[in-house]
Amino acid sequence: MKILLSNDDGIHARGIVALAEALLPYGEVTVVAPNRERSACSHSLTLEHPLRTGPVDFPVPVSRALSVNGTPADCVKLGLSKLLESPPDFVISGINKGANLTVDVFYSGTVAAAFEGVFSGIPAIAFSLDSFAPDADYRPAQAWVRRVLDRILAEGPDRGFVYNVNIPALPESEIKGMKVTRLGKVRYRDSYELRHDPVGRPYYWLSGEPVILDQDPDADINAVRAGYVSVTPLTGERTDVAVFRKWQTGRDQP
Ligand code: MN
Repeated sequence: MKILLSNDDGIHARGIVALAEALLPYGEVTVVAPNRERSACSHSLTLEHPLRTGPVDFPVPVSRALSVNGTPADCVKLGLSKLLESPPDFVISGINKGANLTVDVFYSGTVAAAFEGVFSGIPAIAFSLDSFAPDADYRPAQAWVRRVLDRILAEGPDRGFVYNVNIPALPESEIKGMKVTRLGKVRYRDSYELRHDPVGRPYYWLSGEPVILDQDPDADINAVRAGYVSVTPLTGERTDVAVFRKWQTGRDQP
């Protein structure tokens, strides 16, 4: 099996090394990832300067590791169109430092990298760990990467959506299992913090805590907070089909 691996935390992040290590037994892993952190850049593409790529020393024996001075979407698009000799069986992204749940999936470069796989007809998975701690333990997440991938392989990978996988930052014995979920609803409170610089000028810093508006235990954020590995099938279909049908019917009426 051939896997194209990317992320948005940069090629030197601990999470992508942990993910590569977990995936090595499955076949040939090629890493194409940003040369620096590009979190929260979603599907941004680089249009105004050239993309350059080159090999980097990677701590685990993948077949190739290339960094790109671009975004996660640049990396996957360039990887699929130029850097890989043949299409991979999977595009896999992560393991992101921090969860990608609810509305955050719209901002996430990790999820966007996986979507670039789906846009090219290739099955894709995004993995995120619910921790920003620099010393977070990625070993339980590695075990769940393998379990989730084994389940997907057993069922036959679907190329119509991204498997968005969020793993609680818990010791392995405390993770309750895997749960199929849907995107939960949250609203961020106090999203920007007002501060002042040394000469008294105000500035703003993005912060804020999500207020969960969703009591459904099958919502992704509730599953992760309850200790489950959350697997959400995310489609790229953004059309509201019910409104489409209603308006189309209206148009056709005299
Ligand atoms: Mn990130």
